[in-house]
Amino acid sequence: TPGLYIVATPIGNLGDLSPRAAEILSAADVIAVEDTRVTAGLLRHIGTKRPMTPYHDHNAEQVRPGLVARMGSEVVALVSDAGTPLISDPGFKLVRDARAAGHQVVTIPGPCAAIAALTLAGLPTDRFFFLGFLPAKEQARATAIAEVAAVRATLVIYESGPRLSACLSALATGLGDREAAVTREITKKFEEAVTGTLSTLAARYDDAPPRGEIVIVVAPPEPPAPASAEDGEAALVEALTRLP
Ligand code: SAM
Repeated sequence: TPGLYIVATPIGNLGDLSPRAAEILSAADVIAVEDTRVTAGLLRHIGTKRPMTPYHDHNAEQVRPGLVARMGSEVVALVSDAGTPLISDPGFKLVRDARAAGHQVVTIPGPCAAIAALTLAGLPTDRFFFLGFLPAKEQARATAIAEVAAVRATLVIYESGPRLSACLSALATGLGDREAAVTREITKKFEEAVTGTLSTLAARYDDAPPRGEIVIVVAPPEPPAPASAEDGEAALVEALTRLP
């Protein structure tokens, strides 16, 4: 049925494309893509050829109204080069405008580097805060890190190899030397997750910037310790008085 279909695609291993994703892509009247060459490869893998139209930050404003108009009578699919559209990738305004126009919006969930990294890191996952890419410039990055220093959640950050060490150092400075994990090339041949404190990880990658795609996962801050033993005891006594 016509509408907008948000289709998650593999982040490295083509085997992760879901049967439902393959079904929708094969049936799409048009697929909005970041890079036609990348998506052409995926379509080849599932043995289909569908019309594609580039949709990225530089042309989205011009292309969006036309795509939204087509959703009334056609199957319009949105994919990214890899992973889940809208997650550090274009798409949110397309969904917003599709809804405003009264079109059906359907999601075909699947791989997402942020979630995959959380499953590898061995850090708490009950509360997490996704930061996407931090600013590239040092000062803006420090500000962005300071803004989340008090957030009581695991942090998830997208980063590139050449900037990894500097980013880890900035995180150690801004957050304290917390436990962290550097996950790399998830679902690919050289998948790895390296754990340690932010400063040891920064040192490890300082003169050996790693290749490939990276997600940094940082442990939440330690819960505040009672200021002294007496304070701790007082807090305990106070808590006991509240018990039914
Ligand atoms: N929408 C995508 C998703 O759902 O994960 C993310 C797109 S964002 C432009 C690309 C970034 O995601 C990379 O720079 C890297 O930080 C992360 N990433 C993508 N694939 C990855 C992989 N296989 N392993 C580790 N990180 C990956």
